[in-house]
Amino acid sequence: MKKWGFFVMIILLLGVGFRYFGPSSQQENKLMNEQRLVRGETATNSESNTGSNTGSNTESNTNKNSAANTVSIDITEDQVYQGDLLLVNKEYPVREESVKADIVNLFEQKDLVQGYGLLDTNIRLSKSVAQTFLKMIEDAKGDKVNNFLISSGYRDFEEQDGLYQQKGSDYALPAGYSEHNLGLSLDIGSTEAEMSTASEGKWLKENAWKHGFILRYPEDKTAITGIQYEPWHFRYVGMPHSAIMQERGFTLEEYVDFLRDNQSLLTEVDGKYYEVTYHPVSDDTAIELPAGRKYEISGNNIDGVIITME
Ligand SMILES: [Zn+2]
Repeated sequence: MKKWGFFVMIILLLGVGFRYFGPSSQQENKLMNEQRLVRGETATNSESNTGSNTGSNTESNTNKNSAANTVSIDITEDQVYQGDLLLVNKEYPVREESVKADIVNLFEQKDLVQGYGLLDTNIRLSKSVAQTFLKMIEDAKGDKVNNFLISSGYRDFEEQDGLYQQKGSDYALPAGYSEHNLGLSLDIGSTEAEMSTASEGKWLKENAWKHGFILRYPEDKTAITGIQYEPWHFRYVGMPHSAIMQERGFTLEEYVDFLRDNQSLLTEVDGKYYEVTYHPVSDDTAIELPAGRKYEISGNNIDGVIITME
């Protein structure tokens, strides 16, 4: 009886041992990498378990590969306040260094203003945003929607202050608290009707996300944005963020919060895969990324950066 028990124990131990040592290294690697994706770890912890994309799964190779297949990038604190995903509202104002560097006067850029009008000759905007806007207008024309105009774009702090003094707090925001001060936002009108009813407004509501723009102050989110419904105000955030926000019904406030809570997000847009990760930044931070992948960095204007990898 005793001998039997001993024999069974040996078999059990062997079984457990086999299960543990057998397929482990591969699975463990996979697991670690999944965890890394989910938590979006930074430099210090990720070194031992990156480099999985090479298809080499033995322990000894993984470390070697990880050294060769990651790049360490230094994030400085000022990057928290630069980029296309900055959240600007009553809580988080625009800093001088957050203003887009490529602001142009659209009236002087005839090649950028085609198929739509400008309300006046002083309208300015980030040049790259204007280029994307032009593509969007061409897309709309394909759907026979073609009576767009830009009624407002970039405003410097002085202009914003003038508007605030003139129109009051019901209509305008104080200098530094408007997205227009970034160069990433614009008010779009229709020459036919009010934007709430115009086909231009309806088309943008459905399609702007395909070009990286979001309707910034939707009708059903006034409690979150703190701003009344503005069917004319669009903000550039870029891909894949506009697609994610459209799909999940997020305002920029909600999206930035979501990323801070979840650290990481994988998504597919038009057959392209993106990984979006949030990294808190205190002082200067080093972040380890897989080598050879295209990435973009934007601050959130609060406490960290969002990295978008293709
Ligand atoms: Zn606006």
